[in-house]
Amino acid sequence: MGAIGLTMAHPLFAQDSSWPADELMGKVNPALFGKGYRLRKKASDAFIAMQKDARMAGIQLHSLSSYRSYAHQERIWTRKYQRFTQAGMSPEKAIAKIVEYSTIPGTSRHHWGTDLDMVDASVKVTGDQLLAKNYHAGGPYEKLGDWLREHAESYGFYLVYTNNPARKGFSYEPWHYSFKELSCSMLDAYLSLDLKGELEKAKLLGSEHFTEAFISSYIQDNIKGINPVLL
Ligand SMILES: [Zn+2]
Repeated sequence: MGAIGLTMAHPLFAQDSSWPADELMGKVNPALFGKGYRLRKKASDAFIAMQKDARMAGIQLHSLSSYRSYAHQERIWTRKYQRFTQAGMSPEKAIAKIVEYSTIPGTSRHHWGTDLDMVDASVKVTGDQLLAKNYHAGGPYEKLGDWLREHAESYGFYLVYTNNPARKGFSYEPWHYSFKELSCSMLDAYLSLDLKGELEKAKLLGSEHFTEAFISSYIQDNIKGINPVLL
């Protein structure tokens, strides 16, 4: 993607349709940057600046998850599908349960190198770190949650899965932020792909149970069900 360099020098060169499908679906390795995380250059630079300022506020911004490949997402999918169906859930139920928090491989914003999940490494949390209540009053990441809500946008990072009750799709994720400048154009290109076709031909565990209605609502609610400023 030499276009990235060009874009920095020439803002008129929008990236819109120049994102290849495989890159949007995590199937090729883009150039990634970062120590302890992997993001595209511009997003990484912005994250470094944000980390630095957060440190002054006593917060050790740490990325728990940033870029994830298709193969990585597929391992998550397979593990959860097996666990849920072995626990007695029907395939349809298991799929619905997975997509409360996890994506279908090929549809994760983590494939883009623009999104990341953050914790405060200066706080020890035993058990599941990524719980919404941890990022609010009384939770171990209360300070981080407040700081991100107040400052992240000034570094170009926006909350994706908000707590707006009218929003459908993935549950509220106060830890997941997206570098808007890049991810907006990637989403735009992504939505112009034949997602239905891509999902139908993906040979995932349980994907023979993807109905037409499920795929339609997944695209509408899960992929588009985000903070409207990122659309
Ligand atoms: Zn995430």
